[in-house]
Amino acid sequence: MALMPVEQALMIISAVFNPLKTENLPLNQTLGRTLAKDQFAAITQPPFDASAMDGYAVRTEDVVHYPVDLHVIGEAPAGKSYQGRVEFRTAVRIFTGGPVPDGADAVIIQENTERLSQDKVRLLSPVSIGQNIRPAGNDFAKDQCLAKAGIVITSRHIGMLAAANIPQVDVTRKPRIALLSTGDELINVGENVGPDQIISSNNPLLSSLIMENGGEVIDLGIAKDNEAALEEKITLLNATKNIDLFITIGGASVGDHDLVQKVLSKHGLKINFWKIAIRPGKPMIFGEFNGIPMIGLPGNPSSAYVCAINFMLPALHIMLGRNQVGAAKSFAILAHDLPENGDRQDYMRAHYSENDKGVKIISASSRQDSAKLSSLAHANCLLVRPPHAPIAHKGDLVEILLLIP
Ligand code: AMP
Ligand code: MG
Repeated sequence: MALMPVEQALMIISAVFNPLKTENLPLNQTLGRTLAKDQFAAITQPPFDASAMDGYAVRTEDVVHYPVDLHVIGEAPAGKSYQGRVEFRTAVRIFTGGPVPDGADAVIIQENTERLSQDKVRLLSPVSIGQNIRPAGNDFAKDQCLAKAGIVITSRHIGMLAAANIPQVDVTRKPRIALLSTGDELINVGENVGPDQIISSNNPLLSSLIMENGGEVIDLGIAKDNEAALEEKITLLNATKNIDLFITIGGASVGDHDLVQKVLSKHGLKINFWKIAIRPGKPMIFGEFNGIPMIGLPGNPSSAYVCAINFMLPALHIMLGRNQVGAAKSFAILAHDLPENGDRQDYMRAHYSENDKGVKIISASSRQDSAKLSSLAHANCLLVRPPHAPIAHKGDLVEILLLIP
């Protein structure tokens, strides 16, 4: 039977997910969260014409001929406006952030003046209308849209929203993703490694990928490859509230010990599809487990990761209402030849660096063992090889998926 193309699998999975409900949080708790609604400024910024420099607020018409001596009539530091008006041949001493007094139409910087006495300043250079003044609303105006729904909130957005006097923000609730590893050979990191055992690196790998992308992890741990152990975890899952996606790891294939489909099916799993034309990751399962979407990832870490990037990430981003769904695509220039590809879409762990013109130059190791974590950790992108892609040559442009960070 022909394997399902990656695009088709992605369409089927994407159709199952919708943006989750929103929650209203204090601004300082929104870092990394996804903005759920467009945000509009509550105030104009700056709220008044402000000086951008330390100097003197003057009327440009008084400085047509220079040097010229002006009468200093007062001060306007930040936070305290001068109450009078700048009239013919007068100036107000002003500081950065100070409100520009009425009558003045420019600020001359201190360095271009000479203070002759307590009430006299000499201007040594001309000044043009509006110079060194930040007009009211220069940054943004009240009710202006500052940030669009679907962005990931950064420190820079938080600074801007604070300046716009927005103390509470609507963000999308974090998707809750349950993770379950299966395998008789698996133990947790930090435990003593007995003969024939390996550490379940996939729980930490996928947990952090989920958290990195704005999700919350419910780690159900490791189930041994037997019915009773899996059933115990199913009970645990059923007792856990509000799970948005259930991920199993391992046991997805056709071996005698691959029990995920068999056991979960007895307890309500409905398979949507099994096996995709992807490498690594062919035996991935997608279905629904008692109302919860379920992705059954293969156990090899690179297979699990490649499938997670291609299918779990879009699901997570759709639930968050993100405006960029899935890993970002880009292009890079091959540093070496590549053989022709087989009938599955290949995702090679690869590394690019930018040359002095900012062009990405990419290398992929020719040995892409899907159990290797070292090549995965050193990768900063996945090189995408479509099914039946012909031999690629050094210098060819190839499509990549960017891995962040
Ligand atoms: P499976 O998909 O269960 O046949 O597992 C394929 C390979 O991945 C085997 O070598 C497993 O030992 C390994 N593996 C399965 N689950 C994990 C895990 N959670 N962490 C690391 N390796 C795993
Ligand atoms: Mg296994």
